[in-house]
Amino acid sequence: MFVDTMSRTEFYYGMTRTVKALKRIHAAGRKVLEYKLFQSISTGTYWHMNNLWNGLNATSGNSLNNESYFQVAAKFFSKLKEAGYKTAYHRDVCYAQTWSNLVGARTVPARPVNFTESYADYQRISKLLQIDDDGLNKPSCEMARSTTGNVNTWAKDGKCFNGRNYVEDQLKYLMETQKQWILQDRKFFSFFETCVNHRFSLMSGMELDIFLPDYLEKITRYDNVMTVILSDHGNKFDRNYMKGAYPEAYVDQYNPFLFIILPKNSQMYFDEKELRALEVNQDRLASIRELHYLLAKFVDVPKPAEALTLLEEISRDRSCNDFPRKDNIKRLCICEHTKMPATDPELSAIVQTAQNYMKKRVNKNSKRKDCCLNITFDKPNSSSFYKYFNGKDDWTYTGTLRVANFTYQNSDVIFTFSMIADKGMNKFSVQHFDRIDSYSRFEFCTSKCKTDLVKACLCK
Ligand SMILES: [Zn+2]
Repeated sequence: MFVDTMSRTEFYYGMTRTVKALKRIHAAGRKVLEYKLFQSISTGTYWHMNNLWNGLNATSGNSLNNESYFQVAAKFFSKLKEAGYKTAYHRDVCYAQTWSNLVGARTVPARPVNFTESYADYQRISKLLQIDDDGLNKPSCEMARSTTGNVNTWAKDGKCFNGRNYVEDQLKYLMETQKQWILQDRKFFSFFETCVNHRFSLMSGMELDIFLPDYLEKITRYDNVMTVILSDHGNKFDRNYMKGAYPEAYVDQYNPFLFIILPKNSQMYFDEKELRALEVNQDRLASIRELHYLLAKFVDVPKPAEALTLLEEISRDRSCNDFPRKDNIKRLCICEHTKMPATDPELSAIVQTAQNYMKKRVNKNSKRKDCCLNITFDKPNSSSFYKYFNGKDDWTYTGTLRVANFTYQNSDVIFTFSMIADKGMNKFSVQHFDRIDSYSRFEFCTSKCKTDLVKACLCK
């Protein structure tokens, strides 16, 4: 079960009923494993899903050449068929607009909204995947068009004409499909994808939390089902402002969730060593590729020697530098130095950098040089400035600085800063700053200073 775009933090904040259900299920004897250091390899769905089906590094150039997402997926699904599985591929994304449409396209496609053409494509895809059940995939376009006016089923409030959220129908359909196969004693593999949280605000997918607990309680009554629930990356609220000001947003972006509910008699499916690894790896750095090789155990897909799997203990020392990620942006490794207090020399450098920066900014932006104050900052204590490792080369520092040479009606003036430093931590540079107090009250004098940088100007 794949929930697009939901971080682990968001899961715990928003999916409170589901969290409780998972705890209940665990307490009742079905082992629920959680991989806390599940690391995004990218901010894009496309790359993750390719890695889910082929386990390969999507950036290496050899895994996706001339292959569309569905061609990659089809290879895995054909292995499932060879191994005798019934297969389902359920998603709430209309085939006319999806991150993965287009057979034959190499990369994330431009988005055609030609329903007839797309439908023909979709039929080719279903055939390619050899899926036995495709859920609400076909009606999803019409559902979307009639309720939201475009091709996104999950846009707006996700409600159908009957007033119910479409996720409810989707999950019911999944349950019924699985129940049928269980009753027929068939092996099955179902992939369920929802974009219900993909609405550009925090926890827009909370409807899922209304229906998912019930689904999980029901499916775990069947002893021989293993359920995997995962996301690929966090919501997009990390963009622009948030990431500059709050590195916690990086965590949102790069730490999705991964839960595995093992079958009741898990020793029927995994040996002792594998079960131990599944336990231990809950606290080891893992990615969607290691999940691929867990699934690959059940079909005839060999694991290359250099690839890791959740079924073997991952080294405690594994770092993000040990595996490539599809990123061209500043990144965060969830396992290392997620948050460390800045050291004393770093704090001195931070103060110096901030003072120089403010002086330059104010002078550059003011017509009159003499009316904004040259700010000096107190040296902060280490609990008000933290650093985050960005990957190979640099660090991000964020925190607050108190202005030492100015108060406003006896209250402190506080700035927040985000800086990066190079590997040797010699050179600090400001990425973003903001002011916590209400600086609009200084407008009377900042207009006199003719500065457009109101928040940086403390009037003399
Ligand atoms: Zn995604």
